[in-house]
Amino acid sequence: MMKYKVPTTPINYALWYTYVSEELPLLNERLEALIANNEICPPVQSASLYREFVADPKDATTWALRSSVDKMLQHIDQSLTDTHNDTNNFQKNVEQTFGEINNVENDALSFEEVVVLLKKLQGDSKKIHRSTAFFSETLATAKGEIESLKAALKKSQQQALYDSLTGLLNRHAFDTEVSAYLESQTQGLCLILADIDHFKSFNDEWGHLLGDQVLKVVGRKLNDSMRDGASAYRFGGEEFVILVPSSQLRIARHMAESIRKMIEKLSLKDKRSGETIKNITLSFGVVEYQPEESLSSFIARADTFLYEAKRLGRNRVLPL
Ligand code: GH3
Ligand code: MG
Ligand code: MG
Repeated sequence: MMKYKVPTTPINYALWYTYVSEELPLLNERLEALIANNEICPPVQSASLYREFVADPKDATTWALRSSVDKMLQHIDQSLTDTHNDTNNFQKNVEQTFGEINNVENDALSFEEVVVLLKKLQGDSKKIHRSTAFFSETLATAKGEIESLKAALKKSQQQALYDSLTGLLNRHAFDTEVSAYLESQTQGLCLILADIDHFKSFNDEWGHLLGDQVLKVVGRKLNDSMRDGASAYRFGGEEFVILVPSSQLRIARHMAESIRKMIEKLSLKDKRSGETIKNITLSFGVVEYQPEESLSSFIARADTFLYEAKRLGRNRVLPL
């Protein structure tokens, strides 16, 4: 783990422990390929391997959140039951005591006997006061816990690695991964920015739902075309980004070109109308990392090429 600068997180320990145990030959193969292609162990792809091979089907974070919520609900439930029982008892005792007080005259109770009744009433009131105070304390704590659970849930949702529509890695995953490359392995790192052409008109013509289907299909095609350590992400909206590590501009351009050709051949069927949809195309901007440049300049250069590809008529890869 030190050799490949793998951060010593619980997930990475579990992953590398499984690697050393040689229990899952396919995992070993994939990890070795990852390192051979990248010369580092990219954090998002490691996390992805962890999810695929090591993690329980239920994501660890979700599980932790769920068990916190369960515990809290159990606690509130118990407290509610206790308070309910205490209130019932209190009601019974008070009714009984009041009955006895009503009979003071008939039964000709002595002053001392009346004082005993009143003391009993006082004792019961104190008990119910303690019980309800405890319950409202429980509720106040629960309120605080709910707030922090909500925040944790929001964070875990934001930080989950995958885009829910396309199933591709998401923007957060891209940010994490590209930063890791920029810190340790920039040699030959290429970036491909791709954007669906005239997607606004597509939505206008075919509807947003079908637009979503197109995003799904394009996402799956991109993912299926990834080779040699390259990974595709949904950058946002109808834009995608591909990281190609330890490569060359020429090779990355070639990769973009073959994806472009594959997408333009795509034909989809609108299930509702039965019509066939063609002419889905992508424009691309491709760059290779230049020593010392910032992440924003790296992306901006790709964006400039993409913009130029649009200007020249779309459905093309730039630079030529
Ligand atoms: P260009 O060729 O210049 O890229 O034109 P464009 O219409 O694709 O570009 P523009 O940026 O004007 O519009 C992007 C459109 O992508 C607008 C938006 O409705 C659509 N879009 C973004 N995200 C989604 C999505 O998740 N689902 C659907 N159906 N459409 C989306
Ligand atoms: Mg766009
Ligand atoms: Mg577009």
